[in-house]
Amino acid sequence: MRAFVLTAPGVGAVQDVPPPQAAPGEAVVDVERVGICGTDMEFFTGEMSYLHDGHARFPMRLGHEWSGTVTALGAGVDPAWLGRRVMGDTMLGDGTCRRCLRGHQHVCEQREEVGIRGGRPGALAEQLAVPATSLHHLPDAVDPVLGALVEPGGNAWRAAQAAGMGAGDRALILGPGTIGLLTAMFARAAGAEVHLLGRTPESLEFARSIGFEHAWTEDQLPDLPYDAVIDASNAAPLPARALDLVEPAGRLVYIGLAGSPSLIDTRRLALKDVTAVGILSASPGLEDTIAAYAAGVVDPRPLVAATVGLDQAGSVLAGTPTTGAGPKVHIDPRLRGTP
Ligand SMILES: [Zn+2]
Repeated sequence: MRAFVLTAPGVGAVQDVPPPQAAPGEAVVDVERVGICGTDMEFFTGEMSYLHDGHARFPMRLGHEWSGTVTALGAGVDPAWLGRRVMGDTMLGDGTCRRCLRGHQHVCEQREEVGIRGGRPGALAEQLAVPATSLHHLPDAVDPVLGALVEPGGNAWRAAQAAGMGAGDRALILGPGTIGLLTAMFARAAGAEVHLLGRTPESLEFARSIGFEHAWTEDQLPDLPYDAVIDASNAAPLPARALDLVEPAGRLVYIGLAGSPSLIDTRRLALKDVTAVGILSASPGLEDTIAAYAAGVVDPRPLVAATVGLDQAGSVLAGTPTTGAGPKVHIDPRLRGTP
């Protein structure tokens, strides 16, 4: 089968590789859509921290935001999975340690992450094998595009939950990328007035085009009480700025990661009586995200700027702009050549 293999920083190509076999407890999925995210691009540049602390090494097969259909099962897997449309949890805890047993498998020390950590091949391929326990069934209303947006959506759903947004609340989201915009969608669906802070005119114009009229640069940001501030950026100074901007007794959510330490003054946190929450993964939010997409509570499909084949994966990972507007590019491994 065809798979995109990253062999060194900036060096990757589609290769013919052996198709995955369904090991005991695992399922093989025919991949229909894969999203490319910032983590993937950090692997492409070689900056991703896992490459430097031993959790990942080249050659790698990326891809952790995916949807597809189950086509083969290993021993011990419920046959009902065969033929089902699914997405999968990126985080694969060992299932045996204290954290896993307490329901926190997404922070298991020994975990693999699909397409990210521990050598577990990702979804930038025609097929993918994953543990059946990591699968989530997609209802008919969640098409393959939505299915591949469940993973980033689960992160954003958790961020919006952590912000505690409801009617009458005002949220400020720093960073109008995929996670920021998805979080904005969930916060808006919860009834909040949503503001977005961004740097480039293009990103703010895109936010406005999908209905977020309160999209500001730092200079334009109105001086309003923000009940929650969510940092979905990769800018090291913004976590401290978020603490400055949040209302006393409000909530701070940190989901963005900068390339260098981003410090906050905890005296300010205490004196403002602020609750701060960090979010790593989508795992605890996947089912709620699928339900929200299925019910039409949020529809993130406009975030997808383009859908291309595996042959263009390297170009997408290198950050080559697409013709469409929006922060997300999808790969459809069934497409050949230029679509
Ligand atoms: Zn564990």
